[in-house]
Amino acid sequence: MQVVDVCKSFGTVRAVDNVSFAVASGELFSLLGPSGCGKTTLLRILAGLTTPNSGRVLIDGVDVTDQPPHQRTVNMMFQRYALFPHMNVFDNVAYGLRQAGTNKRDIENRVRELMALVRLEGFDRRKPDQLSGGQQQRVALARALARRPRLLLLDEPLAALDRRLRESTALELKRLQRETDTTFIMVTHDQDEAMTLSSRVGVMFDGRLAQLAPPEAVYEHPATRAVAAFIGEVNLIDGRLGKRSASGHATLTSTFGTFDVVLNGHAFADNAQITLGIRPERLDVRTERPTGNALTARVEAVAYHGDVSVVHLIAAGGTQFQAKTPNDGEQARPVVGADVWLRFDPDDAFLLDT
Ligand code: ATP
Repeated sequence: MQVVDVCKSFGTVRAVDNVSFAVASGELFSLLGPSGCGKTTLLRILAGLTTPNSGRVLIDGVDVTDQPPHQRTVNMMFQRYALFPHMNVFDNVAYGLRQAGTNKRDIENRVRELMALVRLEGFDRRKPDQLSGGQQQRVALARALARRPRLLLLDEPLAALDRRLRESTALELKRLQRETDTTFIMVTHDQDEAMTLSSRVGVMFDGRLAQLAPPEAVYEHPATRAVAAFIGEVNLIDGRLGKRSASGHATLTSTFGTFDVVLNGHAFADNAQITLGIRPERLDVRTERPTGNALTARVEAVAYHGDVSVVHLIAAGGTQFQAKTPNDGEQARPVVGADVWLRFDPDDAFLLDT
């Protein structure tokens, strides 16, 4: 599946602004971004439900931009996956097969196969209102997969489920995707969902694709400040680049001190004003002055989360920092009001344009 230079405006709103990307066959790809960033519009363009102002959509190398939805080997599962309430589970799942004129025996076999796939054997005669939210969601998935689409588009597939059910259903979704070897493109504003499920994530802001990379890369090496701040928590330090070394390191001078940073292939100009990003779990809280990169801060609050504690700190100029420390019994818990050192390794931080 390939999207080439796709644009879509509604009046003055540029919902999708010159987006290009390719998704490999059998991939579970997520489009992630805040509300209104254009994810759903892009998904609807792939389904053929919205016509782009310009650009092309290719599926299996065939240009489908001008094809209506039913001619594409694509199916879409909507946010409110709206099962037909008056039909039982069997008829809901069989609906698309009947529309396509499949014979009765093949329909029965296929529905049985799908019910096993979504682990709902024996539920055929129930009506949607006799099912839990998670079960309804699985029926909707079975219905969407019935005609073996090459590409399944899922708009916030887990949004209607409560938190606990979301996690188990997410794993189910991944299993289904693997077992059916169907390409899934999923839209979500939930970073955890995108990160745990996807082989790659496309992060969108204001109609544009800010970064497209595997989850680890998006988290560890965000392309922009917006991506860094949207995916997880981040501590940002503005500073000026100083001396570079042959080993790809440089110094960064900031109000919190001078740090050793890794350039990681960035082509910043000499003395460039840049931003250093450090994830909270990469900041080590120390009571004694450590060697290497460190800044001082005061502990403002400690929030206990079971496996970890989130430590809220105030550094020079009132800047807030956040550190995450494991509650593994090996380190003393930071004490509110204590003056501490925050240490980080150069390799654990990333650089961003300001
Ligand atoms: P959400 O997560 O809230 O569903 P989204 O990222 O999916 O958001 P879209 O629904 O694609 O965002 O909307 C992108 C922008 O385009 C928004 O500003 C929205 O108001 C606008 N928009 C979407 N559809 C239409 C439409 N049919 N008419 C006018 N404006 C629209």
